[in-house]
Amino acid sequence: MDPVTEALDDLHRRISPLKDGEVATYIPQLAHADPDDFGIALTSMAGHRYQAGSADTPFSIQSVSKPFVYALALTDLGPEEMLRRVGAEPSGEAFNAISLEEDTGRPANPMINAGAIATTALVEAPDPAARFARILDCLSAFAGRRLDHDEDVYASEAETGDRNRALAYLMRSAGSLEGDPHTVTDTYFRQCSVRVTAADLAVMAATLAKGGLNPVTGARVVTQDVAVRTLAIMATCGMYDGAGQWLLNVGLPAKSGVSGGLIAVSPGRFGVAIYSPPLDAEGNSVRGVVALTAVSARFQLHLMHAPVHLTATVTDTGTAARSSRVRTPEQAAALDRDPRRITVVGAQGELEFTETEQLLNAVAETAPGTPGAVVLDLTAVTGVSSGPAAMLAAALADLEEQGHRVAVAVQEPFLEQSEARPGSWTGFSTRDEALAWCEDRFLDSPGLLNDASP
Ligand code: GLN
Repeated sequence: MDPVTEALDDLHRRISPLKDGEVATYIPQLAHADPDDFGIALTSMAGHRYQAGSADTPFSIQSVSKPFVYALALTDLGPEEMLRRVGAEPSGEAFNAISLEEDTGRPANPMINAGAIATTALVEAPDPAARFARILDCLSAFAGRRLDHDEDVYASEAETGDRNRALAYLMRSAGSLEGDPHTVTDTYFRQCSVRVTAADLAVMAATLAKGGLNPVTGARVVTQDVAVRTLAIMATCGMYDGAGQWLLNVGLPAKSGVSGGLIAVSPGRFGVAIYSPPLDAEGNSVRGVVALTAVSARFQLHLMHAPVHLTATVTDTGTAARSSRVRTPEQAAALDRDPRRITVVGAQGELEFTETEQLLNAVAETAPGTPGAVVLDLTAVTGVSSGPAAMLAAALADLEEQGHRVAVAVQEPFLEQSEARPGSWTGFSTRDEALAWCEDRFLDSPGLLNDASP
């Protein structure tokens, strides 16, 4: 058994005996759930899937659908319009509370029922059937397989869903919901009845963890920006009135549902899902909360935990490096006489803020004291985000202002010439070519070879 499955199995074994909590009954069909069902699933960024217990047991997604439908509506409307229609503040109230802004009637956030109903209504479609079809397509793309809905659960909620209809009527009277409250809640009930397993939810969560890219199918489901905004709302509002404590103790964006589903996302690492129907007073799965608290502590996943930088960014700094060019004895002697005239700094990996700051310090420390040449070898760099790329471009422009020649060896166009501070650094595809170019500039300096003779 692999170590991840072993860890999930161990967790499952330790938490199974926990019998606290109550299965939800206000939607009559949910009362049939088996309180002993308990599944854990995890999907990694490489698309590997791990699970323990009843992770293949189907259940209705309920509120765990909310972040995904929010991502869909956000894609349709864009961030400003979305925020104008549905807020982004934790309500500190129960999932079915009347959390509407006083003057505008705007629901507090899209993770509670009022905000979720408004969000469902915002999904662009010519008619309700097409709207639900788009929602089902979206949930299916997140899950990486074709999902369907549970007609019995849908009918059961439609029969008893007056509170949600009341919320919809309130919103319509306040001007924050367009359309017929009956039709809108009907679509919302269908959305809540979509059938998933813990294994499905883990893939859905992992898609958010991977910036909107489904790690199993390889499909882009939503943009990175949409995934980031969705995760932010999950972090502040995903656990209803337990959201603050959850962020404190577990520190991961999460979303729970009344059928006992619970997902959590560790951005860039994995998506994890639990299915266990008994709920606590806040409406969150009891075993789910305990399991995810343990997972977060064990792997130090809390978002506020300072990230560990595993690989060194600066691979080497050199002052006496030479290219493979054949030189005359005079040229070689001239190059050797002042080894600090040409310096080299090599870097590797992803350049985020911290890595770039390290790299720029190394460049500043090794740059020649008198005007010379600096070779920056970025051939082993795998990516530079836009902020750090601008930092780098500015630093190169500074070096040139100080009178240095700058040669950059880089495979990909990571480092566009910055528009704000156009530099004149020269790009090469290998360190050797960059070095040879600097040597040539140096050897071209008038009088240098004559000065070289003793
Ligand atoms: N369909 C449920 C409702 O609207 C979803 C609530 C939940 O999962 N917390 O009441």
